[in-house]
Order: sequence, then structure tokens, then C-alpha cells
Amino acid sequence: MQHVTTIAEWRGFAQGTRNVGRRVGLVPTMGALHAGHRSLVQRAIDDGAVPLLTIFVNPRQFNDAADLAAYPSEIAEDLDRCREWGVAAVATPSVAEMWPSYPAPTATTVHVAGVTENYEGAGRPGHFDGVASVVTKIFAITGVATAYFGEKDFQQLAMVRQLNEELSLGLDVVGCPIVRESSGLALSSRNVRLSPEARERALAISQAVAWAGVEPRAVHEIETQVTEMITHAGGDVAYANVVTNDTVAPFVGSGPARLLVAAIFDGVRLLDNGPVVVSGGN
Ligand code: AMP
Repeated sequence: MQHVTTIAEWRGFAQGTRNVGRRVGLVPTMGALHAGHRSLVQRAIDDGAVPLLTIFVNPRQFNDAADLAAYPSEIAEDLDRCREWGVAAVATPSVAEMWPSYPAPTATTVHVAGVTENYEGAGRPGHFDGVASVVTKIFAITGVATAYFGEKDFQQLAMVRQLNEELSLGLDVVGCPIVRESSGLALSSRNVRLSPEARERALAISQAVAWAGVEPRAVHEIETQVTEMITHAGGDVAYANVVTNDTVAPFVGSGPARLLVAAIFDGVRLLDNGPVVVSGGN
């Protein structure tokens, strides 16, 4: 496995892969790797791509300095995991390598309107501009590739698809299903910050998402019941909304849709989502 830290080496690896007629399978992450990340790597391998995993905790997408400071960093363990998973190259650029002007802002920011307006976008000002800017940069460095993203960050995935298409960045974007613990809790690097007791109470989130997917219901019923289930478990619900699958806008009408949830347990913001079917009568 190659370990690269500069943009030049990273670009060289991707180009070298294409030069020998192989497809690059790009897996962008912020590290503290877990089975969710592994599923993206495995999907790249299954697709016959050469997995290139990036680890970069992008300071520009954190609107909360405490959240950035508390974000787990375990580079040595992550490199071991990548070796074990069959990753071909890991890129771990420093902040100075990616954003030489940081903490001063860059002149260029990528903003994707519409899809980023609500939900994570409303609750975390500047977050999606930071993600869109770093993803655009990661795509520009990597070049033509297939990029793997988790449905765990459903709104992010929709945004990445849109910016890739509208800016003709030329990657194939593949969405992968949410990987969960056997308890149902969606895997997240932030889960390590949950106390055992909060982790238990936080199961209300995945239970509510699973409940909502069982049978067709009205939007209002889904949103109120899910909020009630999580609040009852002691969670602070940031949002629990039924949205369209592609544009991530409030869902109107009936048919297949997505339930997006963000809730805070013990100061840790947790995301989850799942498919729902909306019956007639919003
Ligand atoms: P992160 O390191 O949290 O920025 O995540 C990097 C990528 O892994 C993103 O595309 C996430 O959506 C994806 N991911 C994170 N957690 C999971 C999970 N539990 N299941 C599937 N994909 C995930």
C-alpha cells in the first residue's frame, strides 16, 4: 500500500493507475475508519477499481470549533485498517497542503444551492460550502475516477452528485447503503464520543427510522412520531423530515421518499435516514 501526503504524489498515483488501464476507486473520508468506510472500499474492489482512500479532516466544513477539536484522529490505526482492507493508496494531506491560506479564507468557494438549504445546511451554516469546496478539490486532484459515498450522509451525497454533474467534473458517483452496528446504530466516527448510556438511548434514532419504513404513512404522522420517539429517549431532535430522494426538498404528495433525522445525544450530533413510503394526505 502506498501512503502519500502531497497533492503531487496523490495526483501521480491516480494518473499512474489510469496509465495502466485501471479505474481509480476514490473513497474520501475524515478518518477514524470503521466498517462503514470499509464497505465503500469493498464496493470499489468489487467494481474492479483500485481503491484510493483519502483522510482529511477538513477544517472548513466545521462550523463549530469544539466539534473540530473533538474529532477523533487515529492515523496509525487507520493505515493498518487500510492495509488490511486492500486499499492501494492512502492520501493524508495536511491542512497546509490542502488549504495553504488557512485559517484565512480562500477566495474560491463552491456553493451548491437548493439541495443544501435545509436540514444539515440550516443547522450548520457554512458546512456544505466547506464540503463542496473540499470535494471539488479532491475530485480535481484525483481526476477521472469512480467516487464512493455513503447514504449515511444523504444530503451530502445528493449535493456531490449535483456538483459533479453541473461542473462536469467527470467522476462517477456511487452511493452505498448505511452500515449499522448489530444494535441498529448507524456507524459514525462520532459514536466514540457517546457514553455507554447515551449510546443505548441513541438507539431510538435507528429504531424510529426503521419504524417509519415499515408501512406507508402520512408525512405528518412520520415526522411527529419519529420526533416523539427520539425526544422520549432524551434526544434533542434537530430535524426529522420526509424529503424527496433526489433534490432533498420537503416531500409533497405520495410515494417513495426519504426520512432524514439529526438528533443530539450527550452533545453528540448523530445522523440517520432511511426509505419511507408516503401514503396519500400530507
Ligand atoms: P466521514 O469520514 O464520516 O466523512 O465519511 C466518509 C464517507 O463514509 C462518507 O461518504 C460517509 O457517508 C461514509 N460513511 C460514514 N459512515 C457510514 C456508514 N455507517 N455507512 C456507510 N457509509 C458511511
